[in-house]
Amino acid sequence: MELHERIASALPATVTCPCCGKSAPAGTLKCQGCSYDYYPTPPDDEHRYAVILREGSYDSDFLPKMALFSGWEPEQCRQANAMMQTYGEAHREFVLLRRSLSRSAAMHIAANLSRHCGVKIVSDDPLPGYTDTFADTEQLELAPEALPCPAPAKSEKEQHSGIGFWGIVGAVLLAIVIASFL
Ligand SMILES: [Zn+2]
Repeated sequence: MELHERIASALPATVTCPCCGKSAPAGTLKCQGCSYDYYPTPPDDEHRYAVILREGSYDSDFLPKMALFSGWEPEQCRQANAMMQTYGEAHREFVLLRRSLSRSAAMHIAANLSRHCGVKIVSDDPLPGYTDTFADTEQLELAPEALPCPAPAKSEKEQHSGIGFWGIVGAVLLAIVIASFL
């Protein structure tokens, strides 16, 4: 086997989106399922985060997005949304959507849902003094915000009027140039 073939066979052939779980060929820049950027700026660190929803939403496209990012069945999303919206015994102020996310994945999910409902990003690192003990659901839901919730993500149409492909290429080239001086 040639060297480049051995290198290619040693690398994973696919990557899995940390936000929506969709697989894509290795080297993919943007997830086709949810537009997650596989090469976030700034790069991710070792911290982990959880995404908490509050208030719920009556928007028609909220539940499909909730299903996309949580991996829950539509009925489970409908129930979780209803619990945030109705008052009474079953009412819940917060719903833990996802945990153990990288910063960029948490930010991406929050940006996609904050157009519809309240979103809080909290720290999901191990509890202080422990290496593998984590907060439970209720502790996470009541935890203070660890990262400011990003502005709502732009829709597909709005994105295309943004900096566009060549703007991104330019930014990547600039980052490489800067990195080579460090
Ligand atoms: Zn995705």
